[in-house]
Amino acid sequence: MHQYGLKVTNARIKVLRILMQSQVALSHGDILTRIHGNELDKVTLYRTLSSFVNAGLAHKVATEDRTWLHALHLPEERNEGVEDHAHFVCDTCECIYCLPLVTEDMAAIPIKESGFQIKSHEYRLRGTCPSCH
Ligand SMILES: [Zn+2]
Ligand SMILES: [Zn+2]
Repeated sequence: MHQYGLKVTNARIKVLRILMQSQVALSHGDILTRIHGNELDKVTLYRTLSSFVNAGLAHKVATEDRTWLHALHLPEERNEGVEDHAHFVCDTCECIYCLPLVTEDMAAIPIKESGFQIKSHEYRLRGTCPSCH
């Protein structure tokens, strides 16, 4: 955590551990229920997550119903400074997985000439996840 310039706090360690143990992106509610004994209030959780996002340790991904989920960056990204990856949405359990696919090529689409200015993009795949097969 030090390498991201974050002070190590109890709340941060707990939230980080939960995110590390999860294969899928988590909502605030998911994280709160995983913290045993309700040791963390909502406000602290919000602050903790946004400090992770600001520090580049985690990222946000929106569900179909516009809920924000959080996931840690993939290890490959942390090492190589890659910003991008694809998200896989399971049609059955609606879990969102981060997949280490390089999506740089999509950013290179010369759409600018047509008047569209791309500020961000997301590569999203849909299907059935391993635990729903
Ligand atoms: Zn699933
Ligand atoms: Zn992701």
